[in-house]
Amino acid sequence: MGKERYGNTLKFGGFEFICGLKERGLVKNIGFSYHDDPQLLDEILTKYPEMDMVQLQINYLDWNSPAIQSGACYDVACRHGKKIIVMEPVKGGSLAALPDKAMDVMKECGAEGSPASYAIRYAASLDNVMMVLSGMSSLEQVKDNVSYMKDFKPLNGDEQKMLERITDIVNDSITPCTNCKYCMEECPQNINIPAYFGLYNMYAATGKKTNMYYERYSMNHGNASECIKCGKCERICPQHIKIRDELVKFADLYER
Ligand code: SF4
Ligand code: SF4
Repeated sequence: MGKERYGNTLKFGGFEFICGLKERGLVKNIGFSYHDDPQLLDEILTKYPEMDMVQLQINYLDWNSPAIQSGACYDVACRHGKKIIVMEPVKGGSLAALPDKAMDVMKECGAEGSPASYAIRYAASLDNVMMVLSGMSSLEQVKDNVSYMKDFKPLNGDEQKMLERITDIVNDSITPCTNCKYCMEECPQNINIPAYFGLYNMYAATGKKTNMYYERYSMNHGNASECIKCGKCERICPQHIKIRDELVKFADLYER
């Protein structure tokens, strides 16, 4: 739910529909996933107090981000007494593979868990969080997640401080794409935007360019430099990324 989809939901009676399902005993909890500013969230929850829960993008990188405003949205949901489901705790994998400088901070602080474990524990440590949705793509990731969630310990003060230092480092080096691919549905040039941002972030983390992957990703898609700057992708991007500017930087790196 964001401004545009809220408008459509009102138009088509979406809230009344899900409230009706609950009244008929067909579902126990109703709510929505949310990608916009805290003011609109406050407006929706005031108008529809029947909502039981809200799904929010929460991770330590986005907590104070002016574009995502995780912390401010979390505060609104708590003020309205809603249960919270967390999405993107590892920010599309960005917080599972940290830049070298951030890994140095983890070593210096004696961190024993994986980078992903701190990201997930950050979200799970917050009050009112009923569930943390973590995308996992391998058995190792499942085992890692289970290892620290089985006997869950909230982050302590030193760990919180370590994540604050890592936030500064990561914010300076990556494009905050979560690989949702919404932008690709809009792009008239069929540009594989999330794949290119993934390569850009890998370069930021490791200093290595992977031209082979760029050739593969661009085989059936437009090159980054083929962007015609129509802006359609930016209107839908839930992360509010300046995609046009980022593609110029990416093309400078990979196409020169
Ligand atoms: S601005 Fe560029 S990347 Fe975005 S939709 Fe238009 S052509 Fe595609
Ligand atoms: S819409 Fe934004 S966050 Fe989603 S894949 Fe595209 S650039 Fe990344």
